[in-house]
Amino acid sequence: AKGRGEGGYERYRPGMEARGAERSKRFAALRTAILEEQLVVFYQPVVTLPEGRTTGAEALVRWQHPTEGLLGPGAFIEDAEQSGLIVALGTHVLRAATREAATWPGEQTVSVNVSARQLREPGFPLLVAAALRDSGLPARRLTVEITESVAVGGGATGENLQGLRDLGVRLSLDDFGTGASTLSLLATCPVHQIKLDRSFVPDGGSDAIADAVAQMARAFGLQSVAEGVETEEQAARLTGLGYDRAQGFLYARPMCAADLRDRLTNETTA
Ligand code: C2E
Ligand code: CA
Ligand code: CA
Ligand code: CA
Repeated sequence: AKGRGEGGYERYRPGMEARGAERSKRFAALRTAILEEQLVVFYQPVVTLPEGRTTGAEALVRWQHPTEGLLGPGAFIEDAEQSGLIVALGTHVLRAATREAATWPGEQTVSVNVSARQLREPGFPLLVAAALRDSGLPARRLTVEITESVAVGGGATGENLQGLRDLGVRLSLDDFGTGASTLSLLATCPVHQIKLDRSFVPDGGSDAIADAVAQMARAFGLQSVAEGVETEEQAARLTGLGYDRAQGFLYARPMCAADLRDRLTNETTA
């Protein structure tokens, strides 16, 4: 790993003890946050192109911090990964998101981000099966978003991906285009959807990568989603390239569960 010496031990640097102590404090605070239910799940709508009809939402974790207010994942996901707390955090999000999505009308889907670390854990599909059973959400309405980092996952990763597919859960390859192992992962781990990373959404300049990814999705028979869509012009370009779905501030920002429920209800009765 980055910043580690031979054998994974961090080499001594002056000030390391102080930083280590700070880190332990942050880890402890995060553990408390998980135990005391300070984590909340926000939802960002995913819409059809070109109509803009909502078909579901992505679950995005937030930390309602007692003194610092509402924190985005940028402030704590890295700590969660390094401390191993990502497993407990991920389970919490999975359970909350499936429970919430079970209340949504029709065939609305929920996408949940799952880290490579969670996917390595033996028995992960059993955890997902339990969340589905307890919430009553049909497996087909859950999408698990994975990134290329699972390609180096090890542990039970391969079995787990197959186990999820067997449950009938959909798999999405997130941040598509940012990793090096993308193509080999598509070969070894068949997914249902690919999600173009925000950095490749056409923005005035070249749309060569967005185009190539859309063509690849078609060739593999996969659904294509573009994330981070902020302007009508981008939506038009993506529609022209053949994208099936979009997600971004143009349509809606991530919102609390109650706001999403209102939105879905209003759209259904509109
Ligand atoms: P991601 O999975 O790529 O999620 C999309 C991120 O893009 C979200 O940031 C979302 O708020 C942001 N976004 C959406 N539309 C737009 C747009 O139009 N413009 C811009 N500039 N940004 C947009 P967020 O919520 O801060 O999440 C950041 C990352 O944290 C996520 O990236 C995901 O990798 C991670 N994350 C979030 N929730 C979870 C979770 O429950 N578990 C795990 N393992 N990771 C999570
Ligand atoms: Ca995602
Ligand atoms: Ca993404
Ligand atoms: Ca991204």
